[in-house]
Amino acid sequence: MFPVIVLNVFGHLARPLCNFALRILKCLLQCALENDGNLTDSHKRLLKDFPADIQSVHKAFDIEPTITIYAACPKCCFTHKPTHTKSGIDIYPSRCQYVRYKGHRNCGVRITKQTVQNGLSIRTPIRPFAYHSFPALSLGW
Ligand SMILES: [Zn+2]
Repeated sequence: MFPVIVLNVFGHLARPLCNFALRILKCLLQCALENDGNLTDSHKRLLKDFPADIQSVHKAFDIEPTITIYAACPKCCFTHKPTHTKSGIDIYPSRCQYVRYKGHRNCGVRITKQTVQNGLSIRTPIRPFAYHSFPALSLGW
């Protein structure tokens, strides 16, 4: 599992490809454990419990990703990090704040739309950009 988590965290390998790599590892492990085509009961349990999805590996290694939804500008693609309220609601500016040259006006394109969430009217990104932030891993390298 460890090589797949390294590919995912440091190589930014996408989830479907990580799941494919896990299946390959499971096949290799099964080939290595088989003795004349037979598996012991403990080996069968090991293969049965082998993870098939990278998210279960994240939980096993306790590295759940923190996802931040940025608001990307539809015109200039500048991303705006949200600020958070005490109730956990992300707050975005209504218009793009990007200034290309010092002293010039900002982009000003609308980047949010009004939506209702849990009975509250809030602004959500027109073009959301999800960013996964993993905690620093101590690999001993
Ligand atoms: Zn913009």
